[in-house]
Amino acid sequence: MTDSRKDARHKAAMAKQKARVDANIEAADTQRGVAVLLTGNGKGKSSSAFGMVMRALGYDQKVGVVQFIKGQQLSGEEIYLREHCPQVEFHQMGTGFTWDTQDRSGDIAAAQATWEKARPMLQDPAFDLVVLDELTYMIAYNYLDAADIIAAIRSRPAQQSVVVTGRGGGAELQEVMDTVSEVKELKHAFKAGVAARKGVDF
Ligand code: ATP
Ligand code: MG
Repeated sequence: MTDSRKDARHKAAMAKQKARVDANIEAADTQRGVAVLLTGNGKGKSSSAFGMVMRALGYDQKVGVVQFIKGQQLSGEEIYLREHCPQVEFHQMGTGFTWDTQDRSGDIAAAQATWEKARPMLQDPAFDLVVLDELTYMIAYNYLDAADIIAAIRSRPAQQSVVVTGRGGGAELQEVMDTVSEVKELKHAFKAGVAARKGVDF
């Protein structure tokens, strides 16, 4: 095939693709907040959620973040948000997880107290984005009532977006979410003996 025929073919294919994309963009004309679930066993769930936090902050949107585990391990996102983003409402469960604390009823109390920080955010239209990091585990361990969480997500203000991260979460949670992405592990450095790294893993 001559170069000019290749060019013409390419141009036609691109025009077709553009028409398809334009039609899809035109069809997606509903303006409302979205509920996003980032799940699966691979790395990238929380980091994706914090990517959305950065996007929202770029537009001076109001952001709330509630983290449901890892209260004792400091993370780069926590340090950054606390030091540089006082406008972000940040809460953390503040205890370790069961294998650290060995205290199931204490963990349940902590989970419920933390949920009571998240709930008002989900009722407040001032928040553009609410991140509920590692929330799924609270449902999986029955520390929090899935129906209560689902009702709160469902009845949040129309323009508010919410991001939930964590493995699992159950079919009912998936049902209420608009976007569900599963991060699948193909490889993870940890399994090759590489230690979790500052700025990459925490
Ligand atoms: P990240 O915060 O890096 O986006 P994540 O939110 O997808 O990870 P979590 O299970 O919440 O996944 O991760 C907690 C920690 O475990 C992070 O330091 C992460 O890098 C690491 N991690 C995530 N997935 C795996 C995996 N498949 N094997 C080993 N470690 C993992
Ligand atoms: Mg995570």
